This record gives sequence, C-alpha cells and structure tokens, in this order.
Amino acid sequence: MNTLNLNPQTQSDSPRIINPLDPEEFKRQGYMIIDFLADYYGNVGKYPVLSKVEPGYLKELLPSTAPLGPEPIESILEDVKKHIIPGITHWMSPNFFGYFPSGSSIAGFVGEMLSTGFGIVGFNWVSSPAATELESIVMDWLGHVLMLPKPFLFSSNGNGGGVLLGTTCEAFLCTLVAARDKKLSQVGTHNIGKLVVYGSDQTHSSFQKAAQIAGINPKNYRAIKTKRSSSFTFSPDSLLSTILLDVENGLIPCFLCATVGTTATTAIDPVGSLCNVAKDYGIWVHVDAAYAGAVCICPEFRYCLDGIEHANSFSFNPHKWFLTNLACCCLWVKDHTALTNSLSTDPHFLRNKASESKKVIDYKDWQITLSRKFNSLKLWLVLRSYGVDNLRNFLRQHVEMAKTFEGLVRLDRRFEIVVPRNFSLVCFRISPSAISNGLPNGTKFDSIGKIMNDKHYLVNEVNHKLLDSINSSGSVYMTQCEIEGDFVIRCAIGATLTEEKHVIMAWKLVQEHANSLLGAF
Ligand SMILES: *Cc1c(COP(=O)(O)O)cnc(C)c1O
Repeated sequence: MNTLNLNPQTQSDSPRIINPLDPEEFKRQGYMIIDFLADYYGNVGKYPVLSKVEPGYLKELLPSTAPLGPEPIESILEDVKKHIIPGITHWMSPNFFGYFPSGSSIAGFVGEMLSTGFGIVGFNWVSSPAATELESIVMDWLGHVLMLPKPFLFSSNGNGGGVLLGTTCEAFLCTLVAARDKKLSQVGTHNIGKLVVYGSDQTHSSFQKAAQIAGINPKNYRAIKTKRSSSFTFSPDSLLSTILLDVENGLIPCFLCATVGTTATTAIDPVGSLCNVAKDYGIWVHVDAAYAGAVCICPEFRYCLDGIEHANSFSFNPHKWFLTNLACCCLWVKDHTALTNSLSTDPHFLRNKASESKKVIDYKDWQITLSRKFNSLKLWLVLRSYGVDNLRNFLRQHVEMAKTFEGLVRLDRRFEIVVPRNFSLVCFRISPSAISNGLPNGTKFDSIGKIMNDKHYLVNEVNHKLLDSINSSGSVYMTQCEIEGDFVIRCAIGATLTEEKHVIMAWKLVQEHANSLLGAF
C-alpha cells in the first residue's frame, strides 16, 4: 500500500499510537537509551575512530520509504547498532584528536535532556521567564569567571550583556550586521558597497561567509597575511597599512575579527594592539575565541584576552572544550542596542506587557532565529556540577597531555613541531631532513608522479600519507592544516575521555606508521 488511507474505518490493523508522551513508556525507553549510551561511552575507545563506510552506504541498508505503522524501540535500536554506529566518526572516543574536541559531559547531557524535556520555546521573556533570566545570570557568571570587563556584563547596568547562540558563525553574523547598520546610520545606507571588514589569513572561514551573508562587498573582505616569524598572529602594523590604503581609496573600515586561538595552529592575535589601531577608524572589534576561550578561565591563560576591554564583542564555544554538549556559543557585547537595532522584530502575535514595559530581555532580538532552546540550563548544570576549580583543572590536564605529546615528538629527530604549542593542540610533521636522509641521490619518484624530486611536494606527500595511514588504522583520528603550503598534522587533545595513556599510545602509533612509511623510501 503506498497511499496513506485516512479513513479510520478502513485503516490497517497496525497498533495505534496511544500517547506519545506516556510517562511509563517514557521511562522505559528513556532508561533503555541511557543504558545504551552508558555502554557506548564504556566501549567507544574500541571502535575505529574514523568511520570506514563508503559514501551512500546507508541507502543500501535502509528501506527507501518511512514505515506506515509503528515499530518498537528495540528494533530501532538494533538498527542504530547495526547501521548507524558503523557510520559514526567517534568524537567521544578517547582516541579522537581531530579538528577541535566536541564538548560532552554528564552535566551537559543532563542539561540538554532537561531543556529538551521542557520543550519550551524561549523567544521572549514571557514565553518562559526562567529561560531568559537564567541565561542572563549564567552569562554574567561565566563572564565573571573569564574576568570580562564590567561593560560586557548585565550587572554593570549599562548596555552590556551576553546571549547564548548555537555557533560562532551566528556570533559573527549577528555582530557584523549590528556593526554594519551602526556604520551605515552614520555614512548612509547607499555606502554599503564601501564597507570593509578585516581578518587575517588565519581567521576562521566562517567569518568570510558571514561577511558575504551580511552583504559586504566580497572585494572588501581583507584576509591580511600573517607570518611564520610571528607565529601566524595578526599584525597591527599590517592592519594599519591596509586600513590606510582602504581609506585612501574612499572605502569605509567597519569590522575587525581578532582570534584568540586560531583554528589551524591556535595563534593568539594581539587583541589590545589591534583594538588600538581599530579605534581611530570607528571599527567594531569582535574577538573570536571559539576554542581557546574555555582555557581563559585559568588565571595563567587569561593574558590571552588582554585588551578585551577595548573590543566591542567576544565569543567562545563551550561546545568545544568546556564540557557542554553541542550546540552552545556564548556571545557578549558591550552595547546590545546595536544588536537589537538590527535584529529586533515586533509581530503582533508576540506582543505582551512585559516586553512593552522594556524591563525584560527578549532574546529573539539578539539573534538570527526566532525560536530558541533553553540552552542556559546546560551551561548552568556544567558550571554547578563541576565548579570552576574542577573545570580549570580539567582544562589544565589537557594542556599537560599536549605538553607530553609535544615532548615525545621533539624526542624523535625525524619529526618537527611546526609552530609553538599554545594550548592543547600540537602541530607536527615529518621534517624535510628526515625524508631527504632516506633518499639515494637523484632518486626519481615515478609513483608520486606530478613533480619528480620536488622536495616540498614530496614532504607534503609523505606527511599526507602518514596521516591517512594512522587514520585508516582506526586507532586514532587526527586532522591536518596547511601552513604556507606545508601539510601539517594536528593533534588536538581535549576529548572528555582522553587520558595520558591514550596520548602516549597515539604517539607510538604515529611512530610505527612513520617507520614503515620512511622505510619505504
Ligand atoms: C571552531 C571555530 C569557529 C567556528 O565555530 P562554529 O561554532 O562551528 O561556528 C570559529 N572560529 C574559530 C577560531 C574556531 O576554532
């Protein structure tokens, strides 16, 4: 039967859904899923970290249409085990060292459950007062822990405060739009094509995308070149000369993104000096610390945010390295009216006394979407369940493990650390000297093809092969970045279940694979 028969008299005799929120059934299935996930966390270290499936694998395994009748949770879970798990890359594995970690913890999970369980849609205060008020309180708590300057906090009773978004991409877009409109209110909307935004060549790619969405002329996106000699940090001098040239050409500087902990190598841009250049041109400065913002709760890392008092906005992702399950991005601004001027809406169906009194926050006006989850529960649970001291120690442990890994790399003369380690990311590769040492003079590498005897190409090929080889073993997962044309392997430590023994094993594995690879040359 392939048409849906809506006449109850002639409907098939398959069981009918009684109550999709039946409390007894909720318990039965809920416990079952918790048991299932507890088993998963216990065993996730044994799975191949990087999924081995081929594109399109799932279509071969699942029916091509949805079932007309209900199916029991038991058989659905069986399919999760049989068909879904093999297609999962296990971010929760203690051997996951790719990208940046995906934050996860019991507190984050339980907070997410509560939020999902309540199922509220907190677009404005009246739609669930606790959601808005808890969010403001938690944002101030966390702002305090990060020692953010007072103007970023609600407690200063100015225009500052924080909001929970899904991702950094949204933080970019919201602040860009706010800065754009603020600038256009001064220079006239007809000048939108002249607005310029600034980042470095290490700024996250989603910043450029946000600029594009915000209607910034693509020709006016500046990715200012960084140098190896300054560890790929954003140079205030280069910024100034770029701005001067733009101004000379009749363009209008508008927005700057500084990064604390860039994605490729965790470079730390000099926030204070960049702000100092930007202020003379009325540029909105946003500080993106998506990954490294977490560790700035440790006093010994707080210097990374020095100068933040001169920035306009700051964001970081607790869903990376702060034990908070996806998705959770914290954005603080000094002047929320800039956000609400650009992002507020006033549909009749949402009007209410509280909003009209102007005594409440309607978070829908601080973000792109209207509907929003009760995300503050998650962060509240994380902060309360672990406490700031434990959170600091947890992050420090990862930094220590990264130091251990870095030390092991340095002991093997065939390898090099490509950029100095700042946090819990180690960037390394087989060094060019190790490769030439193994080469008889004048060897030609037909198998490698393309450019024979091109050293640079060869070094990249060898490192690429090494990464593919360790990842296809299933025992670890690491990813890569490209720095000035060099292929570099990134080992990002910070998965919740990772312990020092996993890091040491990971290094042994790298060495074993390097042995057979270099032996082949
Ligand atoms: C991960 C990352 C982002 C993007 O974060 P999303 O939350 O996925 O949008 C932006 N900037 C930096 C520095 C990052 O590391």
